[in-house]
Amino acid sequence: MEKKIIITIDGWSSCGKSTLAKQLARELGYVYIDSGAMYRAITLYFLRNHIDWTQHKAVEDALRKILLEFHSNHKTGQSEIYLNGENVEYVIRDLVIAEKVSEVAAIKEVRQFAVKQQQGMGKKKGIVMDGRDIGTVVFPDAELKIFMTADNAIRVERRFRELYDKNPNVTIEEVKANLEMRDYIDSHREISPLRQAEDAILLDNSKLTMREQLDLALGWVKERLSAAR
Ligand code: C5P
Repeated sequence: MEKKIIITIDGWSSCGKSTLAKQLARELGYVYIDSGAMYRAITLYFLRNHIDWTQHKAVEDALRKILLEFHSNHKTGQSEIYLNGENVEYVIRDLVIAEKVSEVAAIKEVRQFAVKQQQGMGKKKGIVMDGRDIGTVVFPDAELKIFMTADNAIRVERRFRELYDKNPNVTIEEVKANLEMRDYIDSHREISPLRQAEDAILLDNSKLTMREQLDLALGWVKERLSAAR
């Protein structure tokens, strides 16, 4: 049987992790999991149901009522997240969610809930998962770990374009402030802070085309696959 590996992609907000993860999954025929979508969907549930997430009991009770699933969109072939049966792939990208998600993702119970499911998804390998703690906490033994970064101005511009397409009222200042805030909270939280795993390869894609970054990553996959045989 063909050997399969686990590929983790961590890094700062909006540096193109999901683009690379989707490219790799498509090329290799692997499953792509967007772990950030899980934290965003939990945040959406908390906001909609007015959950006071400063209270442990309220968080625990709410998590018991949350079912997260990924299903492939038949038209695009992309995996999309469902919250209790509802497709929330698009609503969770809103800035309203981005404003609160890092606060919610710093809660111990929330992380335990998400990480347990993420680890279950990697049991059969053949998976590309992107996030903040995938190479450090979720899959510390992954065969290939990539840590992505890009120039700040480029990251802001990319996320602004994405959000502006959906909501022309969004400003570049708002987007910049949100990225800075999330990066600060994500890298300073007590549990599973964002950091580069010691055995992760650093990929700065500020000056790379999508094709170039994919080719680089495919080269690393090839190396790891032959090492794993
Ligand atoms: O990847 P994305 O930007 O959609 O993630 C949204 C937020 O979810 C991050 O800013 C971070 O607070 C949280 N997150 C996390 N751990 C992950 C993935 C995302 O804490 N593995």
